Amino acid sequence: MKAAKSAGADLAEIRIDLLKESQRPKWPNLIAEKVLPVIVTNRAVWEGGNATTDENERIQSLVDAVTLGAEYVDVELEAAESFRDCCLSTGIVLDPTARLILSHHNFDRPLSADEINNVIADMRDANADICKIAMLATSALDNSVVYNTLKAAQSPTIMLAMGELGTPSRVLAPKYGGFLTFASVGAGRESAPGQVDTETLVNLYRFRNIKPDTPVYGVIGNPISHSMSPALHNASLKHADIDGVYLPLKVEDNVPGFILSMMQQGFEGFSVTMPGKLAAMRAMDEVDEIAAKIGAINTVVRDDSGNLKGYNTDWVAAISAVEEAIGDGGLVGKRVVCIGAGGAARGLAFGALERGASKICIVNRTEGKAVELAEELGDAANGMSLDAFNDVEGGAQFDVLMNTTSVGMHPDIDDTPVNSKLFKHGQVVFDAVYNPLETRLLKEAAAAGCVTVSGMEMFVRQAAEQFRLWFPDVETPVDVMRKVVVSRLSS
Ligand code: NAP
Repeated sequence: MKAAKSAGADLAEIRIDLLKESQRPKWPNLIAEKVLPVIVTNRAVWEGGNATTDENERIQSLVDAVTLGAEYVDVELEAAESFRDCCLSTGIVLDPTARLILSHHNFDRPLSADEINNVIADMRDANADICKIAMLATSALDNSVVYNTLKAAQSPTIMLAMGELGTPSRVLAPKYGGFLTFASVGAGRESAPGQVDTETLVNLYRFRNIKPDTPVYGVIGNPISHSMSPALHNASLKHADIDGVYLPLKVEDNVPGFILSMMQQGFEGFSVTMPGKLAAMRAMDEVDEIAAKIGAINTVVRDDSGNLKGYNTDWVAAISAVEEAIGDGGLVGKRVVCIGAGGAARGLAFGALERGASKICIVNRTEGKAVELAEELGDAANGMSLDAFNDVEGGAQFDVLMNTTSVGMHPDIDDTPVNSKLFKHGQVVFDAVYNPLETRLLKEAAAAGCVTVSGMEMFVRQAAEQFRLWFPDVETPVDVMRKVVVSRLSS
């Protein structure tokens, strides 16, 4: 409990049923020594808990908790009557000593709005001071059900969607009027799936600052737990003293539906990462011209009239870093090689031509895809296979090489997509891979006298451009962003 307090918790939940077998009989000591107000819970096995005593003893422990001074007791809705009977027979009066949380959990599926309304009505009939519902999220859209329930609540209510898909509902409880949220004491010590740890909740997401009108941003992707964007954007919002929170948003399907639904819940903007960059376009009222050519967006901006516009900040991030490395004249008239023909390649190839490159050669493991992309790019482009490119010992003529494949990414850090004999002094070499910060490709290019640009620059700059689009009147804290990314990647 001391750890919870120092991590920033306002109250602590004593889960009697989750204590070690040997510690369980000593749970009253936790109340005697409490340093925070407490909720006492002894969750029944039939409600997903671990209580091993018989039902009478379990209910008695909750009544004892009230006698011992617990501020809240959590009782399953199904056990409300037994608890009330036990209080009456023991002569315990809850109010104003302790408050009764009646709870309902479904670990298998989300509940419909009708089911939720019925459960809440039953809880209120059973004299709940606080209603608590936790349900498994099987879709990112289930968060909306939580937000709608909290907004419509007539009395103090806790509602959470469990699992990684439901994590936003835990962080955003204060935005929609939730009575409280649950966070773990530390990473890896969650008592329910999808919980974030208290320190992250308080310091990264600035939970205490979240109010009903706090703007929400987030990065849509799948998987998303590894994303550095929440660390980077939340640090930037804090640095710039902007009211706002930025969340990881795991979305497995229906990205357009998710965007539209969350916009109705008061979200303000999104970053979009793989695999939703194409699908997200379907939710837009307007798509930036180059993003439309590339066929992918990574940023969603809502304008004052509520219209959604999609942008692609990936290409400008990489291309501006490359132009800076080239110096005067930038890409104008330069011969560019792009290794890869996937999503990142499309952005960088269109971007290079947009900025005046005279030729672009698309080089890809699967030659057909290289040729296809080159055809889309027009007369200045040609496509070839990676094998053929690497075979031309010292013969390939280019000024700039951009790797957009994942070759060389951690843990395969000894791999490189390019024959190092192709590098010549003065060329500029960019690698979209940013973990490690210096890939084998960049090391070999630097050794040959090339100017190198790390994928970290692309990552930081695409985020900086997003920040600029969301907050055009605020100076973008690029240095803060760079610091966050470097410290993440170096640790
Ligand atoms: P993608 O659409 O899946 O394309 C992957 C490309 O890599 C394809 O051309 C694929 O060739 C090629 N490839 C994959 N494995 C390969 C291998 N073992 N040998 C040779 N070629 C291989 O992915 P993407 O979205 O373009 O992303 C590509 C990379 O860029 C990822 O590492 C991503 O992390 C990085 N990225 C970085 C940033 C940043 O901010 N720094 C932003 C976006 C992306 P085939 O066509 O033959 O399969």
